[in-house]
Amino acid sequence: MKETVVSGIRPTGKLHLGNYFGAVSNFIKMQHEYNCYFFIADLHSLTTHPTPSDLHGYVKHVLVEYLACGINPEETTIYVQSDVPEVAELYLYLNMNAYMGELERSTSFKDKVRSQPDNVNAGLLTYPSLMAADILIHKATKVPVGKDQEQHLEMTRTFGNRFNRLYNADYFPEPYAFNYSSNLVKVPGLDGKGKMGKSEGDANCIYLSDSPEIIRKKVSRAVTDAGPTSDNQEKPEAIQNLFELMKIVSLPDTVNHFDELYNRQAIRYGDFKKQLAEDMIIFNTPIRERIEDIAKDTSYLRQVAKHGALKARESAQKTIREVRELIGFKPF
Ligand code: AMP
Repeated sequence: MKETVVSGIRPTGKLHLGNYFGAVSNFIKMQHEYNCYFFIADLHSLTTHPTPSDLHGYVKHVLVEYLACGINPEETTIYVQSDVPEVAELYLYLNMNAYMGELERSTSFKDKVRSQPDNVNAGLLTYPSLMAADILIHKATKVPVGKDQEQHLEMTRTFGNRFNRLYNADYFPEPYAFNYSSNLVKVPGLDGKGKMGKSEGDANCIYLSDSPEIIRKKVSRAVTDAGPTSDNQEKPEAIQNLFELMKIVSLPDTVNHFDELYNRQAIRYGDFKKQLAEDMIIFNTPIRERIEDIAKDTSYLRQVAKHGALKARESAQKTIREVRELIGFKPF
């Protein structure tokens, strides 16, 4: 039997290169080999209180972009998380055995407490239980995610194992983070520090739907420095990040060329960024064109979401039936 794979992306805006190389590029390959469930994590996105009209638009972006990237709804189950209420039920059960201390220690929770001190809600704290529910509901063993999700995966294993011990059953398997490359991926942003991410701001992200003009503008404004001051100098984070981005979208010869220029202090950041922007445009263009076409086809999108919800619920309902039985809920 094929192994089961689950992964999702929060609809908080459009997909960027970090989402693509951390997650979606793996979805595309995995769909041929595994039993895949790829969802749009709209329940997760409620921690940031989107307006009703924004929420629907963002869900649509992710659905359209999944399809435009090449996820095939005939081969995989693509669904909207809130269409599968069994996920919320499992989240409730898992929360009964998720402890304050461990939830508070999660790195992403601590980051959010720092970055949004006025909105530290219970949904944010229990985000790892909802993510565990997303994965365990289909009893998945592989989860294609970026490096930022590694700790959440560890918590999912803890919660699943704890459930198994509590109910004395070998029920949930252990899921592990997965990437086709040997390491989990972290795509840097354009701001010179840290990862590409929606919460880091639009200027920091290259979205799959960005036009060539926007890409050129964003890359030209990416943070650099005054240039190397000695041969073979170690690159500061901002420059290293741009090289990392180039490794993702450009040919190895191009990267080597600019690396060599850097090493002998002959690099001109203007030329370097121009090349990076053009290679990003070459990568993005076919996806952007498909996004534009698919977004117009509302009846196709409706059909994909409906079909996906049916398939996802079938699997989720089976799990919930068995979980209820293990917990001890019995009909009179
Ligand atoms: P999010 O946008 O936080 O819902 O993330 C959705 C998926 O994209 C998760 O699998 C993340 O690990 C992945 N992801 C987001 N940003 C990056 C990044 N900068 N580098 C690698 N993976 C990322």
